[in-house]
Amino acid sequence: MKTVHHALTQGTPGVSIELQSLHFGTPGAGPKATLQAALHADEIPGLLVAHHLRARLAELEAAGRVTGEIVLVPVANPIGLTQRVLGSVEGRFELATGENFNRHYADLFDAVVARVDGKLGADAAYNVGLVRAALREAAAAIPARSTLESLRRTLLGLSIDADIVLDLHCDSQAVLHLYTETSVWPRVEPLARFLGCEAALLAEVSGDHPFDEACSTLWPRLAARFGAATPIPSACVAVTVELRGEADVDHELAGRDAQAILDYLAWQGLIAGAPAGMPPARCEATPLAGSIPVNAPHGGVLAYLREPGARVAAGERLADLIEPMTGLVTPLVSPIDGVFYARETRRFVPAGTSVLRVAGREALRTGNLLTA
Ligand SMILES: [Zn+2]
Repeated sequence: MKTVHHALTQGTPGVSIELQSLHFGTPGAGPKATLQAALHADEIPGLLVAHHLRARLAELEAAGRVTGEIVLVPVANPIGLTQRVLGSVEGRFELATGENFNRHYADLFDAVVARVDGKLGADAAYNVGLVRAALREAAAAIPARSTLESLRRTLLGLSIDADIVLDLHCDSQAVLHLYTETSVWPRVEPLARFLGCEAALLAEVSGDHPFDEACSTLWPRLAARFGAATPIPSACVAVTVELRGEADVDHELAGRDAQAILDYLAWQGLIAGAPAGMPPARCEATPLAGSIPVNAPHGGVLAYLREPGARVAAGERLADLIEPMTGLVTPLVSPIDGVFYARETRRFVPAGTSVLRVAGREALRTGNLLTA
């Protein structure tokens, strides 16, 4: 294992923040995977999964079984972990700018087009190599004027030329689910099976340039731009994995999730040895535009009636919202048939809060598909 220390742009004299990446295997010897944990800093399940992955990857490397290159970023957001406000960590938004740490990643499309135009050929593998070299150059040229920009540039640089990118997050209270780009679903489906995923949400573009899409969506766009005579495959499988809820942090779950990720990497040819048997699927893929939130029509106390993971029908009562001064009880019902996969942790919410989400088969939403 090789540890690389990446010094981020210093925002305040005397305050230094660095990112660390752990590198297993040999660059260029085979496919590359980058795994990063807790881009929203206080999403702790990924940090414990990364801890388990570090130990197991070190064993696999010592046994000569890492056939490609595996990069592990065990703490993807050291800025967020320092943002303590009145006793709590604010890990989702940078306090200085209000920006979400998982939005606004650079779109390298134009920079890559300028570098590869006129150089592509009929051989897809050659084109992939050419595009990856252009991506590395373009990522290195992204401005890093602030600590946040520097973090985004460094993270993108570690992932932009990878075959597989797994961005490990969690939800408030949820069953394990994932987000990915529609065209790569057949290559993600085995990951969903190994992880025991209960909802898989697909979109071509979900909005505001989250990290996974900055890595994966370039490829189908480049293919469309240059046409069939110069084939460009979807060479990056990038997935946002939601490791259940924020309190689902224990060794048993983390060990199981780490093993599932390693089983997937073995299946993808990054780890030598007989791959694990493929478990049955626990969910089907559904459109991200079919994930429907239920908002609180007024402030009040939340009392849930169903647990995340429940298969529910349209109209089914999932929670009561209670206004304690008047005694008003508003049933919150499922808007659709689907999987009740995530819900709010807080039990008192102001009006307008997105309280829960149900994943259904029909793409009913348009516009920006991600929450803030
Ligand atoms: Zn997150």
